[in-house]
Amino acid sequence: MSDYLDVAVVRIQSWLSRVPDLAGRRGASAMIRRATESETIDSLLTGWEDHAERCAEAGHVDGVVPLRLRAEDEETRHRVERLVVGHLREWLPGASLRSTLRRGEDWLAAHDGAPACWERDWPAAVSEWPLGKQCDWCQTWPANGHRWTGAKEKRKQEALCPDCLLRYDNAGSPSSDKAERTPGTERDLLDLWDKQHNTAARIPDKFPELVEKFGERGDNTHLATVYADGDAISQFGKELHKQRSRGRGGEFDMAKAIDDATWCALLRGIEAVANPDAESDSGIKTLPLVAHLVGGDDVLVSLPAHRAWRFALEMQRKFNESLRKTLKDAGLGTIKVPTQSVGMVFHHHSSPLATASDLAEELLQETKRDYRSSRASLGWQDITNDGPHPVGRGGITPETLEHCWGDLTELSKLGGSALANLAKLARTNDQQRLHQQAKRLGREELVARFDSDSIPLEDAVGMVRWWKEWS
Ligand SMILES: [Zn+2]
Repeated sequence: MSDYLDVAVVRIQSWLSRVPDLAGRRGASAMIRRATESETIDSLLTGWEDHAERCAEAGHVDGVVPLRLRAEDEETRHRVERLVVGHLREWLPGASLRSTLRRGEDWLAAHDGAPACWERDWPAAVSEWPLGKQCDWCQTWPANGHRWTGAKEKRKQEALCPDCLLRYDNAGSPSSDKAERTPGTERDLLDLWDKQHNTAARIPDKFPELVEKFGERGDNTHLATVYADGDAISQFGKELHKQRSRGRGGEFDMAKAIDDATWCALLRGIEAVANPDAESDSGIKTLPLVAHLVGGDDVLVSLPAHRAWRFALEMQRKFNESLRKTLKDAGLGTIKVPTQSVGMVFHHHSSPLATASDLAEELLQETKRDYRSSRASLGWQDITNDGPHPVGRGGITPETLEHCWGDLTELSKLGGSALANLAKLARTNDQQRLHQQAKRLGREELVARFDSDSIPLEDAVGMVRWWKEWS
């Protein structure tokens, strides 16, 4: 039996997106990568080799430090825990941390979904910070320093808290010439794109650039922030462990397989919504997306609203397809292949990213609950039209979305006022007038096809507000 200690950032996407400026989010991505990358952890553990080692089997996930403990006495274990917590606290002063101890024959067995031996929370130690004016970025903590922010013409001095000061100092730019200044997640994405397409790409620097370059004519103001993760991953681990105890799949690397499937799916989603030849600056293609976090089975990205449905559908399909192949190749074709679920929030590009990403997480949890994580599903909401609090709209499966794709495209061709009328009648459930209106539009059959067995009409009208026809 071995003991495994994970020290991880709690609700990482919420911490990442806490600041309004994309530079602050990029700074946070870079901080989290540097704080938890294997080289950093190996050097942190120098001199502690008798007590703990970095657990390579867990793979690398931004924001998680996975250790295998060698020390057996409680006191030494707590010293190891405090060493790691202290290290993360220094790098990520405003993040809340949690340490979890699990036990098992190996890493997989320890992560098979059984309850942890113990868990301990380490909230951000804000009380130790000097009292002062509130931070201009996160509006949460007292500021204790100043930085010049904003573009050249609009430069202003802002008061920042210790967490945001570090974000500022670590904020590179994805289009930066210096690779080391590009945040880890986006650097990984660009490397992967380069490898697969044999051509360099870049990522838009700011949300306005993203929507201006890729938004639809007439409406290029909205983004979708998409939060995805794998369904029933611990059940998957349990099943793999069972197979391993029967002598099957001993070589199968679960962490790597999930990580690969996640990246492969993300890339497929981007390919599906990136125009093949347009959007290139001096020969370098700009990707229609900003990546906030990709690690393990988690994905948090923002992209222009009209591209989101296609992106999500392709990503969900590919995640499952990619894992299915890896499992089959490893002789584990009989295992239930994990799926990926999505929370998707449409919002104005200038509205707070934190509101969108927190809501996306909430919708993701809600749809997973509704479908009991037994299949892929997607929960969505439009902050501009539905408000920022969950409205309780049910999730949709990729199968339903695919089945209704043609009808949704037809629906999207009706004018804005016709759609608004249909939505109003659907909401009041006035069947007679709805029928008359549909008849007037000459789309009775189309309108009738949207119902509770497919997609309710009111939801469908909301979906096609951000729709794009793909050939
Ligand atoms: Zn702050």
